[in-house]
Amino acid sequence: MKKILVIGARGQIGSELVPSLRKRYGNDNVVSAGRSYPLAGDPTEDGPSCQLDATDAQRLADVVKKYQIDAIYNMAAVLSAKAEADPLWGWNTGVGSVLNCLEVAREFKAMLFTPSSIGAFGPGTPPDNTPQDTVQRPGTIYGVSKVAGELLSDYYFKRFGVDTRSVRYPGLISNLTLPGGGTTDYAVEIYYAAVKGEKFICPLKKGTFMDMMYMPDAVDAAIDLMEVDSARLKHRNSFNVTAMSFDPETIYLEIKKHIPNFEMEYEIHPLKQGIADSWPNSMDDTCAREEWGWNPKYNLASMTEDMIKELKKKFNK
Ligand code: NAD
Repeated sequence: MKKILVIGARGQIGSELVPSLRKRYGNDNVVSAGRSYPLAGDPTEDGPSCQLDATDAQRLADVVKKYQIDAIYNMAAVLSAKAEADPLWGWNTGVGSVLNCLEVAREFKAMLFTPSSIGAFGPGTPPDNTPQDTVQRPGTIYGVSKVAGELLSDYYFKRFGVDTRSVRYPGLISNLTLPGGGTTDYAVEIYYAAVKGEKFICPLKKGTFMDMMYMPDAVDAAIDLMEVDSARLKHRNSFNVTAMSFDPETIYLEIKKHIPNFEMEYEIHPLKQGIADSWPNSMDDTCAREEWGWNPKYNLASMTEDMIKELKKKFNK
């Protein structure tokens, strides 16, 4: 039986990962940790929870010891667009939390999952069918800290035998918790605008293709990779994973099939556009498919149908 700790549990991924892990391993075996004190009615509060700032190494070690944790999902991060406004905060959170988790995982012999991102690639990376192993020279502090996190995680595996695993998530689309300030946030916000009957102001240009994924697949990716037999893994940190690639025009037209009077206008955000232009158009995730059976369930059409259905319920439409 595993005892699992999810750090950053109230973020876009954590708020859906915690309930899935609890369903699988039992409520009492999954501890949800938020940077601020837990709030009543939070979806991550059906089991043990605690306050934890992952940059505080001593507090992290105390929590892991208290709950006898043997697997950590570290979701603490400052996302790409937000980190550009305060690079030192981005680096201290992105790398500080990873290093603290690696140390505590080494000391207490715990497994560790720390997501990387398409942001770990940069302008010199082949943008189409981006290979698993390729050039990684990102131009954002988010990307620089993701590359550092990937390298540190591989280092701790090779040097100390810490069982580290991770994926490079693409843009994630979900309907429970809003995204935390990334470059792909538009692909969530567009659904909210459509369902609320508002015009959507798109911050990225037509023709800006990026990899994307629906949250149920993202949660499965994390759990499936952590459950696979270690001997099957040739790569560890981090696997390319994708489910679809689209540009703003494609998602807009897909939503219009369900909401014909939906309108969108372009107002380009130079920072976000610059970041998006430096990221892949579409990744090759063959290694994840071969080494641990990655196989997403949702494409753009099925995700759009589900997003609109769920958001209509949420807004009583
Ligand atoms: P999010 O911003 O929604 O959530 C992150 C959570 O971490 C927040 O609740 C925040 O309060 C918390 N946090 C920040 N600093 C902390 C600290 N010092 N200690 C503890 N908690 C802290 O982000 P998310 O979308 O849930 O992302 C989780 C992970 O997945 C991150 O590593 C992110 O880079 C990665 N990722 C996300 C996406 C995406 O589209 N959402 C895409 C690629 C990679």
